[in-house]
Amino acid sequence: MIGSGFRTEVKDCFDLFFPPLCLLCHAPRGKSLDPSLCSCCLDGFLPVTSPCCPRCALPFATIGGNDHVCGECLLQPPDFAWTVAAGLYEEALRHAIHRFKFDGRLNLDRPLARLLETAWQRTAPAWLPDLIVPVPLHPHRLGQRTYNQALLIARELGRSRQLPVDPHLLARILPTVAQAGLTARERHKNLRGAFALTRPLAGEKVLLIDDVMTTGTTARICATVLHSGGAGEVGVAVLARARRNSMLGLETLRSEVEEIS
Ligand SMILES: [Zn+2]
Ligand SMILES: [Zn+2]
Repeated sequence: MIGSGFRTEVKDCFDLFFPPLCLLCHAPRGKSLDPSLCSCCLDGFLPVTSPCCPRCALPFATIGGNDHVCGECLLQPPDFAWTVAAGLYEEALRHAIHRFKFDGRLNLDRPLARLLETAWQRTAPAWLPDLIVPVPLHPHRLGQRTYNQALLIARELGRSRQLPVDPHLLARILPTVAQAGLTARERHKNLRGAFALTRPLAGEKVLLIDDVMTTGTTARICATVLHSGGAGEVGVAVLARARRNSMLGLETLRSEVEEIS
C-alpha cells in the first residue's frame, strides 16, 4: 500500500518538472494558496471595501466610516435586499472577466465563483437561498456566444453549496441591442420589459447572479420581476462592482457590460 508521504513526494517531484500554472496568466502558481490562480493575480483583485452601500455594494469615495445605504437606494429602494461582489470591476478582475466572457476561457468559472462564494460567506453567511438564478442572455446573444457566463458562475456556486440552480426561471424576451440609442429613462423602461418569469414562485428566497454590476439597472429590473412573480427575499451576487466614478467612464462601462452580456 502506497503511503500518503510517498504520494506527496511523487507530486512534489512532478510539480518540479511540470509546475502547476495559473489559469489566468499561465505563470507558475508557486506557493499560492488558491488551487487555480497565482498569488500575483489574486493580489490584483481589488475587494469592495467599507464604506459601501449594503444594498447595491456601491463603494464610496470617502475613506473610513460605516457602511450606509447610498442615495439612489434611499430614493428608489431596489427589490433586492443586499448585493455582494467578489471585487471591483478594475485591474486583474476586469481582465479575468474579459477573458472569461470574450475569449471563451470557461475554466475560469470555478476560481471566479470561488472568489464570489468567499465574499458571500463574509457578507451574508447565514443567508441561504432556495434557488440560485442567473441573469439570462437573450437567445440571439446566447447563440453568438454559445454560453451564458452568469449561468456558469451560478452552477459553480450551486455545486459548491449544494443548492438548486434554475437557469430557465428568468427569460430574456427582448434583445439588448434594442437598447441602443435610447436615453437612460427609455433604456430603463425598455429593459423592464426585457425579462419575464417562466413560472410563478411561492415566496422562495432567490440569489440572483450576474457578472458585473455597473448602474444596477439589470439587477433592479430582474429583482422586480422576481418579486412580482412571487419571490420572497432576493439577494444579488456579482463577480464585480463598478465604482460610480470609474476611471473607465460610465459609457465605456455600459458598452463593455451591455455589449457583451
Ligand atoms: Zn496569475
Ligand atoms: Zn445602493
